[in-house]
Amino acid sequence: MPENAPERVHDLLIVGAGPVGLALALALKDAGLDIVLADARAREAVTKDPRDLALAHGTRLTLQRLGVWNTLPRTAIEHIHISHQGGLGRTLIDAAEHGLPALGYVASAGALAAALREAVDAAGIPVFDETEITNLAAGEEDVIASLAGAGRPAPTLRARLAACAEGGLRAGDPNVVEHDYGQHALIADVQVAGGHRHTAFERFTPQGPVALLPKGDGYALVHVAHPDTADELLALDDAAYLARLQAHIGGRARLTGVGPRLRYPLVLRYRRSTIAQRTVWLGNAAQTLHPVAGQGFNLALRDVWALADALLRAREAARRGAADTAPGPFDAGAATVLARYANARGLDRLGTIRFTDTLVRVFSNDFAPLRHARGAALLALDLIPPLRNFLARRMMFGARAWP
Ligand SMILES: Cc1cc2nc3c(=O)[nH]c(=O)nc-3n(C[C@H](O)[C@H](O)[C@H](O)COP(=O)(O)OP(=O)(O)OC[C@H]3O[C@@H](n4cnc5c(N)ncnc54)[C@H](O)[C@@H]3O)c2cc1C
Repeated sequence: MPENAPERVHDLLIVGAGPVGLALALALKDAGLDIVLADARAREAVTKDPRDLALAHGTRLTLQRLGVWNTLPRTAIEHIHISHQGGLGRTLIDAAEHGLPALGYVASAGALAAALREAVDAAGIPVFDETEITNLAAGEEDVIASLAGAGRPAPTLRARLAACAEGGLRAGDPNVVEHDYGQHALIADVQVAGGHRHTAFERFTPQGPVALLPKGDGYALVHVAHPDTADELLALDDAAYLARLQAHIGGRARLTGVGPRLRYPLVLRYRRSTIAQRTVWLGNAAQTLHPVAGQGFNLALRDVWALADALLRAREAARRGAADTAPGPFDAGAATVLARYANARGLDRLGTIRFTDTLVRVFSNDFAPLRHARGAALLALDLIPPLRNFLARRMMFGARAWP
């Protein structure tokens, strides 16, 4: 142990108190573990995230188990209308067809973080706001984290396991696979005449998809475009922009107003492995996906649940003692625990990354044969209920969609 390292060893240090880090803390709240969280930003900043998230049905079930669903403001998606510009073929996915009240829900990322944070506070799990983790040194026995910022409780913390949920991945890291889509997403709130009737629109254009998700009385917009076009769209006044958007959507909905537009560059980045010595990466720190299918947070929450499950099982095994050993101390960062978690999540994780990436590549170009294939695919989806059912289940449950 280095000089000046603290004596106390926490079971788990969670780096980043965004929705993913908070969800992990909450999933473990009754496990009797010594957990601490640190976030570089102030508490209010985290709860003001302007993005909206499409939450899959499976995510709803997990948020219910975490006890934050009932108080979360959200809007149900009952129908999804999928089409592509410049060709025939479209499909409609309907919740009733799958015997569900909704295919998914739209909630603000800030409101979700606020609900999770309240629950974490109520559970008495400490969160150090305005505390940046500047370094993690993983060794045989523990991880030593270096802390900076106004809220830091000490210069360093020791933990058996560090769960990194700090959002973005650094470009140029050799452990990270990267593909720049050459696209930017504009997000905004959009008003609509006559209400949204709980219908989401996903319209594929050669520059990228345009999605309108029902939210409150209007829509949450994700408008993907080439970076130069995004510059141009941001420079338009609201009326001119609304006219451009209306032209994309056609007569499916009559748009009447648009709020401030924000921009996000879209790059696929994912870690080759999400585990290392006494360290695990989750959420956007493990993979940042294109928002085309709204899978980022949904995948992250499935990972969170599986990691919590692996830790709870390991703790129970240590408490009882394995079949041929006496009860022993619990080690949250043991290599066997992390390996079990990573093995359990490999298929769903890579499947979701590939599914999202393929959707972007196939639907975001104007190559004529692909345009016809897209039309044929949408037509097939419309005519073949089992295919439609598979797509809907993939969006709702991830890899568990496979029969
Ligand atoms: C335009 C857009 C639309 C999207 N739409 C959807 C959607 O419809 N559905 C969906 O499922 N997903 C969607 N996503 C993805 C979703 O936003 C992310 O999956 C989710 O927000 C990731 O949460 P997170 O907790 O991993 O990261 P973040 O929300 O980024 O939180 C990370 C936290 O870590 C803190 N932090 C960073 N560095 C440090 C450090 N060194 N020390 C301490 N703290 C640190 C930060 O302050 C921050 O609070 C979308 C993304 C974009 C860009």
